[in-house]
Amino acid sequence: MAAQETVEHKYVYDFAEGNKDLKDLLGGKGANLAEMTNLGLPVPPGFTITTEACKAYLTTGREPDGLAGQIEAHLESLERAMDRRLGDPDDPLLVSVRSGAKFSMPGMMETVLNVGLNDRSVVGLSAQAGGNDRFAWDSYRRLIQMFGKTVCEVPGEEFEHALDEAKRAKGTKNDLDLDADDLRGLVDAYKQIFAKHTGREFPQEPREQLDLAIRAVFDSWNAERAILYRRQERIPADLGTAVNVVSMVFGNLGPDSGTGVAFTRDPGSGAQGIYGDYLANAQGEDVVAGIRNTVPLQELERLDKTSYDQLLGIMARLEEHYKDLCDIEFTIERGKLWMLQTRVGKRTAAAAFVIAGQLVDEGLIDLDEALHRVNGAQLAQLMFPRFQLDHDFQPVATGIGASPGAASGKVVFTSARAVELAAEGEAVILVRRETNPDDLNGMIAAKGILTSRGGKTSHAAVVARGMGKTCVSGADEIEVNVPAKTFTVGGHTVGEGDVVSIDGTTGKVYLGEVPVMPSEVVQYFEGSLDPEHIDNPLVRAVHRIMTHADAARRLRVRTNADTGADAARARRFGAEGIGLCRTEHMFLGDRRELVERLILASGEREREDALAALLPLQRADFVEIFREMDGLPVTVRLIDPPLHEFLPPLEQLAVNVAVAQERGEDVAKEEALLSAVRRMHEENPMLGLRGVRLGLVIPGLFAMQVRAIAEAAVAVVRDGGRACPEIMVPLVGAVQELETVRAEAEKIIAEVVGDSGVEVLIGTMIEVPRAALTAGQIAEAAEFFSFGTNDLTQMGWGFSRDDVEGAFFWRYLELGIFGISPFESIDADGVGRLVRIAAEEGRAARPGLKLGVCGEHGGDPDSVHFFHEVGLDYVSCSPFRVPVARLEAGRAAISTTGSDSR
Ligand code: PEP
Ligand code: MG
Repeated sequence: MAAQETVEHKYVYDFAEGNKDLKDLLGGKGANLAEMTNLGLPVPPGFTITTEACKAYLTTGREPDGLAGQIEAHLESLERAMDRRLGDPDDPLLVSVRSGAKFSMPGMMETVLNVGLNDRSVVGLSAQAGGNDRFAWDSYRRLIQMFGKTVCEVPGEEFEHALDEAKRAKGTKNDLDLDADDLRGLVDAYKQIFAKHTGREFPQEPREQLDLAIRAVFDSWNAERAILYRRQERIPADLGTAVNVVSMVFGNLGPDSGTGVAFTRDPGSGAQGIYGDYLANAQGEDVVAGIRNTVPLQELERLDKTSYDQLLGIMARLEEHYKDLCDIEFTIERGKLWMLQTRVGKRTAAAAFVIAGQLVDEGLIDLDEALHRVNGAQLAQLMFPRFQLDHDFQPVATGIGASPGAASGKVVFTSARAVELAAEGEAVILVRRETNPDDLNGMIAAKGILTSRGGKTSHAAVVARGMGKTCVSGADEIEVNVPAKTFTVGGHTVGEGDVVSIDGTTGKVYLGEVPVMPSEVVQYFEGSLDPEHIDNPLVRAVHRIMTHADAARRLRVRTNADTGADAARARRFGAEGIGLCRTEHMFLGDRRELVERLILASGEREREDALAALLPLQRADFVEIFREMDGLPVTVRLIDPPLHEFLPPLEQLAVNVAVAQERGEDVAKEEALLSAVRRMHEENPMLGLRGVRLGLVIPGLFAMQVRAIAEAAVAVVRDGGRACPEIMVPLVGAVQELETVRAEAEKIIAEVVGDSGVEVLIGTMIEVPRAALTAGQIAEAAEFFSFGTNDLTQMGWGFSRDDVEGAFFWRYLELGIFGISPFESIDADGVGRLVRIAAEEGRAARPGLKLGVCGEHGGDPDSVHFFHEVGLDYVSCSPFRVPVARLEAGRAAISTTGSDSR
C-alpha cells in the first residue's frame, strides 16, 4: 500500500486561478471576479476563500487547518502585486472583505470595507490620497462602524446617533459638511462606543482585523435573515459562502471619482440599451443607503467620457462573453475605471423570454439554450391577468395563492347568488368558508373564489386551478358568516355586493376594485394574436421558444378536462388529448335527483330505471368531449367519489326532517334519504366506498358509464369523427378488482362497438400504494396506467389532502422536513419511488404499456422533469397549465448543461 500522503486542501484561490464555472467553490461573486480578471478587465487584485472553508468552519466552529497559512501566502502575493503592505503606516494596502455565495443573496450577508486602517495607517492613507485628510478619517470611521456592527455586534444605531450628533454640533444635515477634524472626533467617539460594547479597544493589528472580518462573513451565512431568504428562494442551507478579499478602490476621492451599477439590457422588459445609475464622489454603500440621488448612467458620458466609453466597451464584451444580460458594479477612482462585480442579472419573467429571443437573433445562443434560460414558473406568471398596483392598495388579508390570477368583483356567499348576479352581467367573487361539489355552478359563474379555510389541494383550489380561475384559499384572517351574508376582516365588515379584489398569485385580498390588465400571452395561446404579424417582442419570443420546446420534447401533454368547453380551450393551448375526464360532475346539478333515486332504489327495477335515465345524459357529455378532442385520446375515468357526497349533509337533513315532523308534514321521502345518509356515513370517506369499490358494490353503475362511453364513441365515428376513448378505473389496489370490472366492460364494449371500428382501451389509475407495488400483476389486466399522484401522495404519506396543508404544513416547511408541499411538487424520493417501481414493473410485465400521470403534479415544472426522467409517455394537467407542461417537457428533453436559470 502506498504511504499516506497528506495533501493540503486548497482553500484560497487568487482571482487569476478561478473562473466563472467555479461558483460552487468560489461563490458567484468570486467566480465572476476571477472570470473578469482572466478576461483582462480592470479588476482590483484579490483572492477568494472557498465555500469549503466556510463549511468546515461552520461545522467545527474553527477555521480549518491550513487556512491561516494560505491566507498569509495569498496576502503576501497581493501585497507584492500592489507594492503595498496591509495596514502599512506610510502607504497602506486596504482591503474589502465581501461575502459571495453560489446564488446571489442580496444584502443578506456581511461586507467589511477599509480593513487595514488604524491610528497610524490613517495618516498614510491621507498621504496616498494627496493629503486628503478628510477622506482618510472618513474611511477610518466607516471601518470602525462596519466592523463594530458586523464583526462585534455593536448596535448600529449607536454609531448613527454619534454621526447625527456630530452633524448637529456642526449645524448641518449633510455628511459632506463634516471636515477632517470633525471626522477625527467622530473616530474617537466610535472607538468609545466600540470599547463600551465589546470590552476591548478597536483592534489596531491589520491581520487581526482581516481574520475577524473573514470569520464574521462565514458566520453571516447563518444569520436569521439569510436563513429566511434561503428558505424563501429555495436555496439549499448547506452551501456556505465564499469570502472575497479585494484591494480597496475608492469612489469618494473627489469629483473625478464615483460609483455605479449598470445592466446590459433592461431587466424589466428585456429592451436593448444601457440601464444604470451613477453617483459621483461616493462609495457603493452610499448608493444603497440612498444618501444622495443617483443620476442616469448616460450622464457619465458628460462627466468622464473616457471612463464611460471604456465601460460601454466592457459591457459589450461581458454580454458577448456571458451570452446573457449582465449586471455590473463599478467604481471610478480618480478617472480610473474598476470593475467590482458582474453576474448574469436577475430579470422579470417577460424579460427572460424577450432576452432569450434576442440572444438567438444575435447569434449568441441557440434555441436549446434559449429554452434552458426560461422556465414554466415564468410562463405561468405571464399567463395570468395582473393587478395594476400603482395606486395605494393595501391588502386586508393574505391567504394561500391557490390559483393564480387577479380578479375583482362583488362579494357573494352562495353559489345560487353567484349564478344570479353573473347572469345579470356582474363580476362576482364567491366567498365561502370552504367549497364543496355543490358550489360548482357558482364557481363557474364567479370571477374568483375566496375561502377562509383549506390549502392548495382543497376543493376550491383544485377546481379553481382546473378552470383557470383565480382563487385565494385559507385566508384565515377572514371570518365568514354565511347566514348574515358578511365577512369580517381587520375591523372591516364586508357585505354581499361590496367589491373586493383577490390576487391568486400572492394570496392577497384587497377591499375595492384594483384595475386588472389581461395577458397577451394567453391571447396568443387562444389564437387571437398572430405571432408572425404582431409587433410584440414578448409574444414573438414566447411563440418561438414554445415551438422549439414542442419539437424537442418526448413527453406528450394532455389535459384534465371534463367539459367540452375545457377540452376546447385545452386543445387551443396545445393539449394532445385528455388524460383525465372526471365523470363525477356529470352527476350533479339537475341530475342530482336521478342520483338520489339510484342511491335510494329499493329494488333492482328502481335502480335500473335511474341508471337508464342517466345513460343518455352521460352519452351526450361524452359525445361533446370526443368531438372537441377529435382524433386524440380521451381517458374517461369511471366515477370516483363516495356516493354520499351526492346527498345532502347529514346535519341539515336531520334538522329538515325534525322541523317537518313538528309541522305534521309527510316526511316519508326525507326520512328514507336520512336513513340512507346515515347508512352511508363514513369516518374516513377518502379511504372508504369510492372508486372501483363503488363500481363493485352498486350493480350497473360502471356498466352504465362504460355503455355511455362506447355509445358516444360509436355515435361520433358514425358522424365521420374520430373518437379514441380510454376507460380508466379509479382506486384499484388489486388486479382482481380490475379484472372484475374489465370482464363486464369488455362484454358491453363488444356489444356496442360491433363493426364500427371504434377501439376502446381499458386501463387503471395507479393511486393506491398497493397498486404501485403490485404493478406487474395489475399490468396484466391494464392497457395503460395513469398515476394519480394526488391520492398516491395522500396515501403514501398518510396526509389527508383536504386538511393538512392549512393545518400544519407551515411547521413542516419551517423545519425543512420538505421544501415544498408534496401535493404541489412530487416527492421524488418517496412517492416518486412508487411511480418508478410501478413504471418499471408494469412495463416489464407488459412491454409498451402506456404510462401517464394525471394528478396535480402533471403541471408542476419540477415534477414534469421527474416524469420525463422516469420515462412516462405523457403528463396531464389542467388546461391553463398545458403550455407550462409543454415548455418544461421541452426543457427536460434538452441537455441540462449551461447556465443556471436561477
Ligand atoms: C389523483 O388522485 O391524483 C387523481 C388524479 O384523482 P383525484 O384527484 O380525482 O382523486
Ligand atoms: Mg384520485
